[in-house]
Amino acid sequence: MRNDGVAPVPDRGGFTPPHPRGIFGEEKVVRDRLYLDWNATTPLRPEARAAMAAAMDLVGNPSSVHAEGRVAKAMLERARAQMAAAVGCAPDEVIFTSGATEAAMVLSRLPAGHDVLVDPTAHDCLWAHFRTGGGAAAGHTLAWGLANNETGVIAEPPRGAEGGWLYGTRKADWLLLDIVQAVGKVPFSFAWSGADMAVVSAHKFGGPKGVGALILRGGFDISALSLGGGQEMGRRAGTENLIGIAGMGAAAEAAARDLAAGVWDEVAEIRNILESELSASTNKTISVGNGLPRLPNTLCLIAPGWKGETQVMAMDLAGFAVSAGSEVGQRSPPTTVMTCAAAPNGSIQAIIIGIGASPTIVGRA
Ligand code: PLP
Repeated sequence: MRNDGVAPVPDRGGFTPPHPRGIFGEEKVVRDRLYLDWNATTPLRPEARAAMAAAMDLVGNPSSVHAEGRVAKAMLERARAQMAAAVGCAPDEVIFTSGATEAAMVLSRLPAGHDVLVDPTAHDCLWAHFRTGGGAAAGHTLAWGLANNETGVIAEPPRGAEGGWLYGTRKADWLLLDIVQAVGKVPFSFAWSGADMAVVSAHKFGGPKGVGALILRGGFDISALSLGGGQEMGRRAGTENLIGIAGMGAAAEAAARDLAAGVWDEVAEIRNILESELSASTNKTISVGNGLPRLPNTLCLIAPGWKGETQVMAMDLAGFAVSAGSEVGQRSPPTTVMTCAAAPNGSIQAIIIGIGASPTIVGRA
């Protein structure tokens, strides 16, 4: 107690709960808040924080040839090698971007007349590029989400009998994989996948927000994402975000190490226990993706009659951070979650629980 009689503000690590005294001003039981929204974004790994702090103290531009520039360049290339090792590609196949959304812009750089066929359950950053000329296309690219951010369902792109990729009856020549949710959570090798392109985002595996990568198969020739100074092997001009990239490289290395150590196996067990406890306590809740190959941490629950956003608010007040399923968009056919979770009035009744590799306590509720 301060000597003016006012209780000191407790240290919440920068986190302020929405209603510290409850919505009706009543005293709340003080306990930890749990962050269960790891598919939206993850906490920063200590390895990433340390790498970023080191990068902040470098003065050189990676494109400069002097000693300071070479030190910065060495840090950039170290991060490129770390990222490459984590996704099973060669370092010169990694092009740093501001995130997966920017990396997916490569779909707008395909040759003229090229169709972009998009997996209906893919993230909007792929779906935004869906286009068919209807008939005599110059070629087809399939854009496919390997692991769904809402249901966690993992699905390989369908292959044709004589090679190539299938979208219904249409054959695609090239494949872009969205591996954003898969990196660090399930084993993946770009080299083995047969994909031509892949998109990655650092903040989904413990790196900073606003940095990512486009993985481009060696020898795959496509127009640059941006033109100018010729950075990133002429594929994406502009001085690199070295601080973010250093953080992403360190996070990728740590994520690959944790995956190999089996960290996510324990998380899958927790997810499964939660899922079976919930289904034992009520037969009204539907767990989407149960029985299908899934990310180890994801639980997508539909509670008929309860709007997703209302559930998220109730969980938030109870001290749990989770996500609501996304709204029905313009796409046709709609995504799996949208189909299963849409009430007759169109509102989504699903919530997404993304459990972390460590219990993430972000403050006191
Ligand atoms: N793809 C998937 C599957 C995602 O979950 C996300 C982010 O939620 C993205 C792409 C886009 O990533 P970013 O916003 O970092 O560009």
